[in-house]
Amino acid sequence: MAATISNQLTLADTGDERPRAGAPRLTGDQFATALLAWFDSHGRKHLPWQQQITPYRVWVSEIMLQQTQVATVIPYYERFMQRFPDVRALAAANDDEVLHLWTGLGYYARARNLLRAARVIVAEHGGEFPDTIGAVQALSGIGRSTAGAILAISKSQRHPILDGNVKRVLTRCFGIQGFPGETAVERELWSVADACTPAQRVEHYTQAIMDLGATVCVRSRPLCAVCPMHEPCVARREGMQAVLPTPKPRKARPERTAYAAILRRADGAVLLERRPPTGIWGGLWTFPQFEEHDAALAWMEQHVGDGPLTTQALPVYSHSFTHFDLTLQPILVRDVRERLAVAEADRYCWYDVRQPAKIGLAKPAVDLIRGLAESGDRASCCQPSSPESP
Ligand code: SF4
Repeated sequence: MAATISNQLTLADTGDERPRAGAPRLTGDQFATALLAWFDSHGRKHLPWQQQITPYRVWVSEIMLQQTQVATVIPYYERFMQRFPDVRALAAANDDEVLHLWTGLGYYARARNLLRAARVIVAEHGGEFPDTIGAVQALSGIGRSTAGAILAISKSQRHPILDGNVKRVLTRCFGIQGFPGETAVERELWSVADACTPAQRVEHYTQAIMDLGATVCVRSRPLCAVCPMHEPCVARREGMQAVLPTPKPRKARPERTAYAAILRRADGAVLLERRPPTGIWGGLWTFPQFEEHDAALAWMEQHVGDGPLTTQALPVYSHSFTHFDLTLQPILVRDVRERLAVAEADRYCWYDVRQPAKIGLAKPAVDLIRGLAESGDRASCCQPSSPESP
């Protein structure tokens, strides 16, 4: 029998074969009631996106908060709202400006999806944020949980949510074992999330369960002593906080190596290239990158060479992506004269840090430019608005 949880049922009667941590005692109603009481006295109510609530403001906050802490998000959110106060302002923006405001926040696909969705809202919904879960989920970058959170918080519609924080709270509280990325476990979690979501005060409940996961039921050393679920929580009772949620089965992470060509002019400006619109660092500016050392050298010789190149291998730069680790070997050529004949002027730019342009920089560009500056090799940032032909 599939795991079925109603607001009145406990989790005991699921018939699920996977191991469990003892008989749960909590019903969905009890969970919601305890959580709302905790929210009234302890929940966060003064975050910027909790003021002047609109679907647009909640949407932007939910996207920024994916994989990013509240404290990090706040200044980015405020700058973003100042520049793009509503969906029409965002839809009219150019990609570079949005990516520039996102620089440092990471996961840039979020920014590109936000912009794409804003344009769809203006073009297809008359500038009004859609108010059905299906229409919201159809927008770029919005999954079921984010769509539910936006509609619950901004329009008091009853929808369950299941982001990482919520998964942690529910797996621990109800003793649900198995990696949450597995289909059967995820299905069960959605069922539990649905059973716990109340019809009344759903906007507070939604904020509360995210808050509980972010501030009390944290990943390591959860604060069980002050948790409103202290008594019924299965993980607390069974001492399983450290093993729930069940981690993803480990696989060896692939490693990739690449070479970054750093061409630096005598005045300190460095040549950057805009990445293709999709893929890693899509649309951001970074140093021209090559999979092979010889390819990097051949490219530099072809574009700047007046004879043999004098190159310097800089310290290796490492970056971890969700699916692989990248080792980047930067190769520096100093005092480059501007001999590059570049047909695609919007693809390359000389970046001058003394007059930093409003463009989105990929993380390696930010870090390598800083590294050059700290080592006395002042590199400067680019001017893509009027790119010089390098
Ligand atoms: S009692 Fe502890 S483990 Fe259980 S939900 Fe609360 S903080 Fe998390």
